[in-house]
Amino acid sequence: MPDERMKLAVQSKGRLSDGGMELLSKSGVRFAYGRDQLHRRAENLPLDLMLVRDDDIPSFVAGGACDFGIVGENVLYEMQARSQRYGDLEVALPLGFARCTLKLAAPKSGDIRSLADLAGRSIATSYPGLTRKYLADRGIEAEIVEMRGSVEVAPRMGIADAICDLVSSGATLEANGLAAFETVLESEAVLVRRATGRSAEIDTVARTLIERMEGVIASAQTKYILLNAPKDRLAEIKDLL
Ligand code: ATP
Ligand code: ZN
Repeated sequence: MPDERMKLAVQSKGRLSDGGMELLSKSGVRFAYGRDQLHRRAENLPLDLMLVRDDDIPSFVAGGACDFGIVGENVLYEMQARSQRYGDLEVALPLGFARCTLKLAAPKSGDIRSLADLAGRSIATSYPGLTRKYLADRGIEAEIVEMRGSVEVAPRMGIADAICDLVSSGATLEANGLAAFETVLESEAVLVRRATGRSAEIDTVARTLIERMEGVIASAQTKYILLNAPKDRLAEIKDLL
């Protein structure tokens, strides 16, 4: 197909959508308003966005409805831990935003202080796949209590002894009398794709987009500083920087 367009799944609303749209815009992609709430068509690149819930992104990419997606590693690896259906997905590019950490935590007032203390206890989480795998790899047997949200209230409500949840500042844990004792996963937003099964046309568009994104990400990590200084003190200045 000569006029094939790359289909990219992006979260419609949430922490990944702002960062994702900003990255696309800084990469020089301009969007016209779409036919509907679900689609957005790029004006200056053969690229169409599909705006969806982040949890659906691995499924859309794995199933071929989209070629690429912007999703958190937490969601990607959780899906992979749950089902082989996602085995062909791979990270094309780490995107450097939406950083968060999946952590095990327990009430400060209780007796769970380490991984070993979890043996025979219960853990509430929205990440049953990752939690189960993390514990199994370390030979710990515990009961997983799956929850969709508000995981941090589970110990207080007597639903579970500990939790495994996403943490960024730690304020939510603190507010609920919980303390983290183990990191299960460090996560950031990534560009995900199938390892196989894309056309050469789509891969050409993808290469252009990835190169531009790499440029944006690299420049976000560098600072351009201009200063007037005596030449003979250059070494000293370099050390300071
Ligand atoms: P949706 O309606 O699309 O399912 P959601 O409520 O699951 O939205 P968000 O809260 O917007 O999603 O989080 C999306 C992703 O952002 C998470 O899966 C994770 O990768 C990342 N994230 C979550 N919490 C934080 C945080 N506190 N700081 C930074 N990134 C986070
Ligand atoms: Zn979600």
